Amino acid sequence: MTERTGPLVELRDVKVHFPIKSGLLFDRTVGYVYAVDGVSLSINKGETYGLVGESGCGKSTLGRGLLRLVEPTAGEIVFDGTDIRSLKGESMRRARRRMQMIFQDPLSSLDPRQSVESLLVEGLKAHGLADDKAATSRRLRETLDAVGLPASALSKYPHEFSGGQRQRIGIARALVLDPDLIVADEPVSALDVSIQAQVLNLMEDLQNELGLTYLIIAHDLAVVRHIADTVGVMYLGGLVEEASSDDLYREPMHPYTKALMSAVPVPDPLVEDRRERILLAGDLPSPTNPPAGCRFHTRCPWAQPTRCADERPALREVLSGHRVACHYAEDIAAGRIRPHEVEPELVRPDEGAASGDTGELIPTP
Ligand code: SF4
Repeated sequence: MTERTGPLVELRDVKVHFPIKSGLLFDRTVGYVYAVDGVSLSINKGETYGLVGESGCGKSTLGRGLLRLVEPTAGEIVFDGTDIRSLKGESMRRARRRMQMIFQDPLSSLDPRQSVESLLVEGLKAHGLADDKAATSRRLRETLDAVGLPASALSKYPHEFSGGQRQRIGIARALVLDPDLIVADEPVSALDVSIQAQVLNLMEDLQNELGLTYLIIAHDLAVVRHIADTVGVMYLGGLVEEASSDDLYREPMHPYTKALMSAVPVPDPLVEDRRERILLAGDLPSPTNPPAGCRFHTRCPWAQPTRCADERPALREVLSGHRVACHYAEDIAAGRIRPHEVEPELVRPDEGAASGDTGELIPTP
C-alpha cells in the first residue's frame, strides 16, 4: 500500500537557462533560452504530480532538471531531504537509482538491437546490481510480471511488441531498479487512446502496490486528470497555477488555465451550446525573450493596464492549497474584472480557444 508521509521531492526556485552561442572562431553567449525560470513545487511520497503545459513551456526540461539529466542553472532540488545538486560521483549515482524516467516514445527510447533481457540488465549493471545471476534472473521475471508481460518477453526485441507493450517494457526498465520516484514524460501520448488508459491504470496499480511517487508530464489535460493528486500548469517557464486535481478542474483560477478549460467539449448539447470559449490573442512569446511583468499579459483577456505588464505575479495561495500566479485572481473569480474582447484578427481562424498558437495542448474531453 502507498505510504504518504511528507514530501519526497521539493524544487525550490529552480531555473534552467540554456545559453545561445554565436561566433565562428570564438563562442560568445548572445542570449539565453529561459526554459525554466524559477519553479518551486513539492511532491509528497506516494503521490502523483501532473505537470501540464503546451509545447515549449519548459515542463520536460523541468523533469530532466529534477533528475539532473540537464544541469539546473540555479535553485535547489531536494530529494528525500538532500539537495541533490550538491551530490557528486557515487552519491549522485545512488540517488539516481532511486529516480527513474519513462519516456514518451517507447520505440525510440529502446535500442532495437537489444533484447528485453539486455535492456533490463543494462540498468542493473550500471548500478552494480547484476553480479548475482540467479537473483538478477528472478528480478527480471518479477519486474516483467509486475508490468503484465510474460517471462518469454525476455528473449524478444522491441519491434516484436505493440506500442502499449513497448511502453510496458519502458516502465519495466525504470521499475527494475526499484525506484522511489518516476518522472514520466508524456508516457502515453504516442499510444492509441484505447491503450492509454491501460498504461495509466498499470501505473496507478504499481503506485498503489509499490508506493511509487510520480511526476507525470503531459500536454493532454485528460492524461493527468484522473491519475494526479496535484496538478501544476506551466506557461513560458513558470508555474501559473497549482491545486489538487479536483479543485483545478472544478474551479480553474488563472486566466490561462481558464482558457484551457473553456475549450473542453461538454457531452450535453444544451450545455455545449452555452459554453463560453475564452479566446487567446497572439502567439506564444519566445522563451528567449519572455515578456516583462506577467508573462501571460500579452495574451491575457483580463490583463490590466500597467501592473500586468510591469510586475511579475508570484505564485501565491489564493484558496487553501490552490496557488495562482495572477495579481487579480480574486477579482476575476468574483467577476469584478471582466475579460475584454480579443481582437478577431489576432486569433487564427483554425485556432482552438485554449490550444493557443501551438494547437498542442489538448483539453480534457
Ligand atoms: Fe492576466 Fe494580469 Fe493575471 Fe497576468 S496578472 S494572468 S496578465 S490578469
